[in-house]
Amino acid sequence: MSTAWIPFRCSVHRTELVGRADSTPTGFELVALSAVQASGTNAKGVALRGELRLSAAFSGCPSCGATTFVRCGSCSGLGCSVGTGMWTCPWCAQSGEIGAPGPITDVRAADIG
Ligand SMILES: [Zn+2]
Ligand SMILES: [Zn+2]
Repeated sequence: MSTAWIPFRCSVHRTELVGRADSTPTGFELVALSAVQASGTNAKGVALRGELRLSAAFSGCPSCGATTFVRCGSCSGLGCSVGTGMWTCPWCAQSGEIGAPGPITDVRAADIG
């Protein structure tokens, strides 16, 4: 099993977060978000294989308590989300109604270890 470290931001507070995702047979599952301790993000990134899903064990956003995540349709940035209503991207500030959840693929992780 491998673990991916994925750049996230809190959609409410715009704080920098890192998502920990564990590999599954079909892709990766987001298990936890945590505050970024040091800025050492690998700019090149690593492409994740398969789909990024939410783990049943997901512990929520440490900044605002949101329980799921969405990916921005304009910049592909990932942010925490309550799952319904309007969402403002914490990366590019585009906002819109959250659509029906679809598979999230082509995610780039900062690192996989
Ligand atoms: Zn949040
Ligand atoms: Zn965006």
